[in-house]
Amino acid sequence: KISYYNGEFINDDDMKVEYKDRAVYFGDGVYEVIRIYDGEFFTFDEHVDRLINSAREIDIDDLEREDVVSVLQGIKEKNNIENGALYIQVTRGIAVRNHNYPAGVEPVIMAYINEAVRPLTQQEAGVNVVTSLDYRWLKCHIKSLNLLANVLEKERAVKAGAKETILHREGTVTEGSSTNAFIVKDDVLITHPANNLILNGITRQEVLKLAKADNVEVKEEAFSVDDLYEADEAFFTSTTQEITPIVQVDNKLVKDGEVGTLTKRLQNLFDSQLNKLNPV
Ligand code: PMP
Repeated sequence: KISYYNGEFINDDDMKVEYKDRAVYFGDGVYEVIRIYDGEFFTFDEHVDRLINSAREIDIDDLEREDVVSVLQGIKEKNNIENGALYIQVTRGIAVRNHNYPAGVEPVIMAYINEAVRPLTQQEAGVNVVTSLDYRWLKCHIKSLNLLANVLEKERAVKAGAKETILHREGTVTEGSSTNAFIVKDDVLITHPANNLILNGITRQEVLKLAKADNVEVKEEAFSVDDLYEADEAFFTSTTQEITPIVQVDNKLVKDGEVGTLTKRLQNLFDSQLNKLNPV
């Protein structure tokens, strides 16, 4: 497998990250995960745009779009992976440890690809989630490498035998530890607005687009943990989890504990987007 670090494509077995890379000390960088389905990137431009925006949000202004694109395309071309997830991160640079930005450093790009399979079983059966306090910072719209709270909260779910932790601020649901959260109530699809309290997921945006195009009433409005308990349907989205139905929250069934009909419809619409990448 061929990966990339700081200007070079190298064999993944030989990948070594510089210990003074600010990602190591501070998580001082941003990242993206992009899916490749049957040899084609999915929502490529959206991910590249978000990476550049995230970088700008942390004052990494000199990240060139063409460098990002050539790394991503290089990884795709040099690896024979038809169905994969490509990881790319950009850090502020390599320098002696000091909190303040070092002078004269260049951003460091790291990227690699792994095989990925679609989570079809959980998409059909649905999953359990738990809820927990969202104690993250107030810049959650940045896809930052600082994921400690997300890591701790994902582990909470795993320990509880659940798939995801849905986070809330004083009872208002924001998003999952690595996903966006949606509910359906009285045929209206509801999800937290794209502000500083959530990452505006590319899958979230895709689902909203598909729903609107299919005449589903959509509300980008905050909902509460109680609304989640009492929802007709619930699901979460992400690049790797796609549209995953939530059938149980904090050990309580969502409605009758079955995957909802609108959720299924959105899953089908999402699937047809993937088919469009590789028409038969
Ligand atoms: N929220 C958070 C906190 C995430 O980490 C992710 C995925 N990395 C998402 C939402 C979903 O974003 P996307 O659909 O772009 O993968």
